[in-house]
Amino acid sequence: MRAWVEVNTENLKFNISQLRKMANNREILGVVKANAYGLGAVEVSKILKDAGVHFFGVANFEEALELRNAKIEEKILVLGASFEEDYIEAQKQKDIHLSISSFETLEFIKNNNLSVPFQLKVDTGMTRLGFNLNEIKQAITFCKNNNLNLKGIFSHLSDAAPITDSSYSFTLEQINKFKDACLDCNLEYIHISNSAGMTNFSEYIVGNLARAGLGMYGFSGDKKDPRLLNVFTIKTKIIHIKKASKDSFVSYGRYYKLKTNETYAILPMGYADGMKKYLSKGGYVLVNNIKCEIIGNICMDMTMIKIPSEFVNSIKIGDEVTVINRDIIDSLNIPELCTWDIMTSLGRRVKRIFV
Ligand SMILES: *Cc1c(COP(=O)(O)O)cnc(C)c1O
Repeated sequence: MRAWVEVNTENLKFNISQLRKMANNREILGVVKANAYGLGAVEVSKILKDAGVHFFGVANFEEALELRNAKIEEKILVLGASFEEDYIEAQKQKDIHLSISSFETLEFIKNNNLSVPFQLKVDTGMTRLGFNLNEIKQAITFCKNNNLNLKGIFSHLSDAAPITDSSYSFTLEQINKFKDACLDCNLEYIHISNSAGMTNFSEYIVGNLARAGLGMYGFSGDKKDPRLLNVFTIKTKIIHIKKASKDSFVSYGRYYKLKTNETYAILPMGYADGMKKYLSKGGYVLVNNIKCEIIGNICMDMTMIKIPSEFVNSIKIGDEVTVINRDIIDSLNIPELCTWDIMTSLGRRVKRIFV
């Protein structure tokens, strides 16, 4: 195999049980959007089902259908917005909740006599989708007066990890605004917490559901949470080793210079496989547990690493390389680093292996 990601099923289940505790035993909604952050939506959903997750979150209606086509019959919430045609299609499905953020959509549902289940999204500070706070009561009333199939209300935290003084007070403010928005609403599902809400604001979150995404993979923001375990490890094998015969620039743009006689290796994995280009700014991989610096620009299909001089005799072609795991991400100090981005960039050529 050239490049693969190992997903540790047991650790994933363990993390679910830990997150459930952090969410004070609220029901967990497993967010499997974007192909479960790149790992495989159907496979991950089956593991989550085993771990007692019976509500899934996806970004759009097509992703919900992908789960249905794979015979996953649990409730699904489409977290993003939908087009009118999606409401018509969703009507033919069971238990796919759409999210509504505007009166226009509510009118559309009413005028077409649609009984599709939905939840209202309310904007408490993310400034993306959602009804504004001054509209939400009226939206709930509209649904109730017209007997629409309103199942819940939710909001999204925008700055719950990492915690700084200002993000701390901002998140508490968001939670308070949400409390006001759903006061006396009497709906089946009420939720605001994402993973960082569970890991960092456990005692403050409200509602009866908590939405877990990146936390399932052991993270609180881009840092590892010590209460959780590593779930995914991206691996490859050394495909070639060379020695610079003279001082030489490595890769496109010639910005890294190897000195005469320094040894480097080539990995058969590049940015098309998910090696983000910013990893060449201080990133490294592990070969037999030896730290090897990424040198030069990462290419589409290849990446160069420097072999430390004391290990030139022990590192060989075919040696397994740990390219990314939780500890490596946690240790990197690269401003552009984003764990969600690394996971969802995993390319098609990378095999997904569940162990
Ligand atoms: C993606 C998403 C989540 C999951 O976020 P994590 O930070 O990965 O836990 C939760 N809620 C909404 C609305 C989302 O879009």
